[in-house]
Amino acid sequence: MFELENECIKYAVIGDPVAHSVSPAMQNAGFMAAGLDERYGKYHVKPEDLAGFTEFARHNLYGFNATVPHKSALIPLLDEVAPAALAANSVNTVIVRNGKLYGDSTDGYGLESALQEAFGLEIAGSRIVMLGAGGAAQATAFEFVTRQAAQLTIINRTKSKAEALAAHLAGKSTALTALGNDETALIAAAVENSDVVIQATSAGLHENDAPPLELELLKNAPAVFDMIYKNTAVLQYARSHNIPCADGRGMLLHQGAKSFSLWTQRPAPLAAMRSALDMALNK
Ligand code: NAP
Repeated sequence: MFELENECIKYAVIGDPVAHSVSPAMQNAGFMAAGLDERYGKYHVKPEDLAGFTEFARHNLYGFNATVPHKSALIPLLDEVAPAALAANSVNTVIVRNGKLYGDSTDGYGLESALQEAFGLEIAGSRIVMLGAGGAAQATAFEFVTRQAAQLTIINRTKSKAEALAAHLAGKSTALTALGNDETALIAAAVENSDVVIQATSAGLHENDAPPLELELLKNAPAVFDMIYKNTAVLQYARSHNIPCADGRGMLLHQGAKSFSLWTQRPAPLAAMRSALDMALNK
């Protein structure tokens, strides 16, 4: 059912949808800058075809990335999964070695590196407010407790999902709080007493999306990171209030760089990957 577009394709991103993905532009710039002949493609894989794709990959690829909606569904189809990815219930990187499929997650590393780069923020000891409790929040929140953040406040439209994520993360040194996005007084206090607010909802993906919460609640935020790599309402608000802010491209870059290193056992050519990413996103 799946075919190689050409013989050089040894890596790929899969998703449903996937046409919008800029990972091929970024990864191919990396392979070229590293002097490697392999290339990176994209496959539109529907949920019902995921098992078929993993078998195709086992025999034809050296590795692949997975995006929405495959990050959790992939796990039972793999031979081995890194403990942290298993705990986060999310795999975005698969390494194929000797016919075996190994899963890992580089999203937490990507976010951590992007926060470091944008704000000089170290996770250990920091107070983090996360908007959203979906796949992206789940995949990355685990990194915060593993890296010993002091506090993590998870705010979600459906409060029960924030509570379930907080319960899943409990047991380490991070103090966890779950809030609904209508608990405005508690949100304002959490934002004011935080080191960074991370926007991890999908509100803002489309141009006229309403923001994920009342924007005035962000007025005392020390820094805002939006996982979306567009000019969202949250980022526009932060900029107009002189709040240091960054969009999600740093996260995309660093998660991709870590995948590159896991596959090739080499450091990723970050500068080449960054400029290819900027070019693809600014098109
Ligand atoms: P998801 O699993 O579908 O979760 C969506 C989240 O957004 C849920 O928490 C949902 O709340 C919330 N939400 C949706 N619409 C909302 C609204 N109108 N108001 C308030 N909350 C709303 O999606 P995901 O996989 O977590 O992805 C979230 C975002 O992260 C996407 O935009 C994706 O592009 C981005 N992302 C970026 C990177 C990167 O490298 N930069 C990596 C991964 C993901 P409910 O639970 O109440 O429905």
